[in-house]
Parts: sequence; C-alpha cells; structure tokens
Amino acid sequence: MQIIAIYPGTFDPITNGHLDIIARAAKLYHTVIVAVAVNRNKTPLFSLEERVALVSAVIPDFTNVQVIGFDNLLVDCARAQGAQVILRGLRAVSDFEYEFQLAGMNRRLAADLETVFLTPAEQYEFISSSMIREIAQFKGDVSSFVPDIVRQALIAKCV
Ligand code: ADP
Repeated sequence: MQIIAIYPGTFDPITNGHLDIIARAAKLYHTVIVAVAVNRNKTPLFSLEERVALVSAVIPDFTNVQVIGFDNLLVDCARAQGAQVILRGLRAVSDFEYEFQLAGMNRRLAADLETVFLTPAEQYEFISSSMIREIAQFKGDVSSFVPDIVRQALIAKCV
C-alpha cells in the first residue's frame, strides 16, 4: 500500500527540527506532503507564500516530498490530497497535551485518517519556530537551528 502522509504546521519558519521529521517520514511513506497552514489564530512573521517558498527551498534532496499551502480544515485538505496519515512531531512532554487533543479532534472529524507522531533527534528537541523568531528579532545567531537560507530570510525580515 502506497501511503501518503500529510505533515501540517505553520512552519514560521521551517527549522532543522521540522526537517528532521520530514527526513524520517520520507523514508517511511510513499509521499510526504508538507502542508503549510495559513493559520488565522497566529499572526505569522512570514506570509504563507514566503513560508511555502522557504520549505520548498530547503527540501531539494527528498524526491518524495511535496509542499502545499492550505487555508481549509486540515482533514478536508488531507482528503483532497489523498492522504491516509496526518503526521505531527512530538518534542517534550509539553507538546503532548495539545497534540493529543488535536489528534482526538481530527479523529472525530475523520475517523479514517490516522495521526502518527515522530520524535526528532535529541539535538532538535528544544527547537521551536517561536524561539527562533524571538532570537532573530534580537539579532541572535540562529545558524545551528535553521538552514542558511532561512537564517538569511530571518535577517532580512528582522531589520
Ligand atoms: P503548529 O502551529 O501547527 O504547531 P509548527 O510549525 O509549530 O506548527 O509545528 C508543526 C509540527 O511540527 C508540530 O507537530 C510540532 O510539534 C512539530 N515540531 C515543531 N518543532 C519541532 C522540532 N524541533 N522537532 C520535532 N517536531 C517539531
């Protein structure tokens, strides 16, 4: 069975932690679709177009990974893409409660979709997009947390 997994998130911006999850998923699934959410609950630093462009720019090596932007209900987007799996990353215990609730809600909305959690390598566990944005806004060095093209985009954004 050729399983398509959708990896949704805000990716504001994409980090080495997200990339670690994508690389792991690319080995497990036939196709991985990174789905960048508009996210009306947050005010992203990067526009949807910029976030999609950054994700596209940093995943050239994985041929079975695609990138899309979406602005509808995740389960509807997943179905439209033919995905059977919703992929999420789990860092520390702090992610668990929210992710558990999200997975439960998505199951109520679409029982045929399975949420699968992957954990990143240890060195990426503490990376979050929000911390990266904060460090960049204070002109800190984010070079060990994000690909160089993302670092450059952060510098350009935080002048
Ligand atoms: P969202 O706003 O949907 O949480 P994010 O871009 O912050 O979007 O995260 C998308 C997914 O990637 C979430 O499942 C999140 O837990 C996971 N994630 C974020 N950072 C990391 C990381 N450093 N390692 C592993 N997973 C991560």
